[in-house]
Amino acid sequence: MEADMIRSVWEAGRSWPIDGEPGMLLRMSEAVTANILDGRELADQVRQGLVDRIAQLADAGNPVRLDAVICGGNDAGSVYAASQARTCGQMGMEYRLHELPKDVSQQQLLDVVEGLNDAQDVHAIMVHMPLPEGVDPDVVQSAIDPDKDVEGVNPANIGNVIYGRRSLLPCTALAVMTMIESTGVPIKGCLAVCVGASRIVGRPVAVLLMQAEATVVSTNVHTPDLASMTRQADIIVSAAGVPSLVTGDMVRPGAVVIDVGINRIKDPATGKARTVGDVDLDSVARVASWVSPVPGGVGPVTVAMLLRNTVEAAERSIRN
Ligand code: NAD
Repeated sequence: MEADMIRSVWEAGRSWPIDGEPGMLLRMSEAVTANILDGRELADQVRQGLVDRIAQLADAGNPVRLDAVICGGNDAGSVYAASQARTCGQMGMEYRLHELPKDVSQQQLLDVVEGLNDAQDVHAIMVHMPLPEGVDPDVVQSAIDPDKDVEGVNPANIGNVIYGRRSLLPCTALAVMTMIESTGVPIKGCLAVCVGASRIVGRPVAVLLMQAEATVVSTNVHTPDLASMTRQADIIVSAAGVPSLVTGDMVRPGAVVIDVGINRIKDPATGKARTVGDVDLDSVARVASWVSPVPGGVGPVTVAMLLRNTVEAAERSIRN
């Protein structure tokens, strides 16, 4: 399948400059027109941009630290936490993991969060999901001090998106905007269609696009004739959690397509589970000007945004 070829070439880090056009990463065949938006490369650039800021903070006696809370019995979370610890170490940041039992009560978890909120030497807090049964994520996320909420999940930080205030904004929405900006395609004056309107991804992305002076259409599962809207869009952001929702015939030639979806499917050819987005890369890469792959697109940039928010929280804690 062409999508697999695209992925393997892109994963191998190769690129084909086409006719000297800057930024042109890939053209597998005449049929494929899209540049593949390499989230790993972009994440690397974001991390590089943080190195000096982290060093300056450390030199001034304020080492950057991320305090993460995890409730036991969560294998995926443990793997993610180990990878976070590694990345923080590589960046010269400290990482402290607060491990709680898998049967922790909501009140016990809230007590830990409150303790971190009050601690002078803590400036960046995140709580790994999922939480144990009976613990309400909304209550826990609302309890994190907004100035330390580096995932941008506290309602105060999500609300600040509307006000356009500088605060710790939701990482995935920031990642989407960073990816669109990296294409160089002007956002101002364009028509953007957001597929999905969740409060943590679709809605913040729609508002950030509005702030960048795009005309924005926000769609959801009840939207009639989604394709008639996406076909007019200069930018499509899909965050619905539905595999192959956005196909090439739904995309206007030259559009930018950002795929936020993370879906596990069983590969019909191998019978093995694999991760795909919402966008059918095969067909969309023949029409779009830029498309982000899954995996290796929005995901790594979201992690980089978490690190950027962590550094910003550290800098602000000194200013305040
Ligand atoms: P959600 O379930 O909270 O919201 C999904 C939204 O999509 C809803 O507004 C729903 O109405 C809409 N939707 C569903 N089917 C649709 C359809 N056929 N047409 C139009 N709209 C439709 O999901 P979420 O938390 O926003 O996550 C969405 C996807 O993004 C998931 O796959 C999730 O795993 C992924 N995600 C990725 C990241 C990342 O960093 N890459 C972060 C968060 C979520």
